[in-house]
Amino acid sequence: MASFVTHLVSALDDTRLPARTVQTVHEGRPLLVRYDLDRVAASVDRDAWRRRPPTMWRYRELLPHESEDDAVTLGETHTPLLRCPRLGARLGVNHLLIKDESRLPTGSFKARGMAMAVTMARALGVRHLAVPTAGNAGGALAAYAARAGLPCDVFMPEDTPVVNRVEAAIYGARTWCVDGLIGDCGRLVREGAAAIGWFDMSTLKEPYRLEGKKTMGLELADQMGWRLPAAIFYPTGGGTGLLGMDKAFEELASLGWLDASTRPRFYACQSSGCPPIADAFARDLRFAETPPDPHTIASGLRVPAAVGDFMILDAVRRSGGRAVAADEHRLAAMTAEACRLEGLAICPETAACLLALETEVGAGGVDPDEPVVVFNTGAVQKYVEVMPDDAPRVKRAEPFEWSRLQSSSLSRLSR
Ligand SMILES: *Cc1c(COP(=O)(O)O)cnc(C)c1O
Repeated sequence: MASFVTHLVSALDDTRLPARTVQTVHEGRPLLVRYDLDRVAASVDRDAWRRRPPTMWRYRELLPHESEDDAVTLGETHTPLLRCPRLGARLGVNHLLIKDESRLPTGSFKARGMAMAVTMARALGVRHLAVPTAGNAGGALAAYAARAGLPCDVFMPEDTPVVNRVEAAIYGARTWCVDGLIGDCGRLVREGAAAIGWFDMSTLKEPYRLEGKKTMGLELADQMGWRLPAAIFYPTGGGTGLLGMDKAFEELASLGWLDASTRPRFYACQSSGCPPIADAFARDLRFAETPPDPHTIASGLRVPAAVGDFMILDAVRRSGGRAVAADEHRLAAMTAEACRLEGLAICPETAACLLALETEVGAGGVDPDEPVVVFNTGAVQKYVEVMPDDAPRVKRAEPFEWSRLQSSSLSRLSR
C-alpha cells in the first residue's frame, strides 16, 4: 500500500519539499507532512477505521509509512480514557477524563512518535540514530532502535532522572551524560550528524515524530465518538503532543469526520521552573525566549528552547485556550495526591496540568460542567526521585506496637 503523503511543507513559510527522501528542517524550523485528503476520503471512512484493531496503526491512511508490514512496532495499543470523579471533584470539575498514555511501550506517549519516526528512518535508509533527551525520549528511541536493529546514541544532562538514564542503556543505546542542559546535548547530536553521520531524531528536527503523536488526537476523537471535549490540558515541553493533536483535528475536520464544529481549547501547561511558552503567551510574543535557570522535577517540561515555539503559541491562540505555568513547588504534592485519589500512575508533567486546571476553574476560564480531558503523558514509576520512600521500619523479632498505626498517616481513611 502506498501512503497518501503528497509532500512536506515548512511550518514557517510554506516552502514545499519532497517526501520519500530523508528530510530534517527547513532554515532551522520544522516540516509538516501533507496528505491527499481527497484520496484518503475515497479509500477509507471512520467506520472502517473502527473495525480495525485498536492500535495507532488503525489510522494508517493519515500516517506516512508506505506499508504496514515494515512498521517498527512494539504494540502501540489504544490508551484508556478514564473518568476521574474524585480527582475532578478535588479540582472543581464535574467531567474530568484522563487519557492514560503511561500504558504505552516504555511508559510514555513518546512511544507513538518514536514508533513512527523510526519506521520512517529505517524505510528511508537511515543507518544510525541519535537523540538529546532530558527524560522519556531517550528510552523510547533506544527501544524502537533496538526493535529496528539500528544503532543509537542518547545524550542526556547528568541530572536526568535515574530511570531515564538506565532505560536507554538497557535497550542497548550508547548513553552519554553531559554536564549541561538539553541544549548542550542537542548541540552534540547536531555536530555528530555532521561528524559521524547519524540521524538527529530531536523533537521536530524531522517530520515524523509529530505524525506519530498525531494519533493521540485521532484516537481521542475515535474514543469520544467523533465529538471533542471543550478543553484539553496538555503538558508542553517541545510541543509535539499538542501540535500533533491540533494537526489531527485539522485533518479530521477537513475530511468532514468530526461531528461538532467546535474545536477544543488547548491549555499548554508548563512549570514555573521552565515556562518559556507560558511566558511568551502572557507577553503576546510570536517566539519564546529562553528562561534563565530552567529547572523542574517534570523532566519532560525542561525544554528551555523549543524549535516549534511559534507553532505551539499559534495553535493555543487559535483554539481560544492559554499557555500557563503551574507552581513548581506544588508539582510533587499534586503528583502524589492525583495518584492516591484515582490509582492512576500520574507523572509530574501531568500534575502541572492538574494545577493549571484548578487555577483555570477558580478564575472562571473553565466551566465546571464542561468535559475536560487531561493527558497523562508518562508513568510515575519512572520518577523515583519524587516518589515517597519513607515506610516505617518494622523489626520482625520484636512485638509490633499497634499504637503506631494511629500515628502513621493512611490518607485513604482521612478522605
Ligand atoms: C516529553 C514529555 C512531555 C512534553 O511533550 P512535548 O510533546 O514534547 O511537549 C510531557 N510529558 C512527558 C511525560 C514527556 O515525556
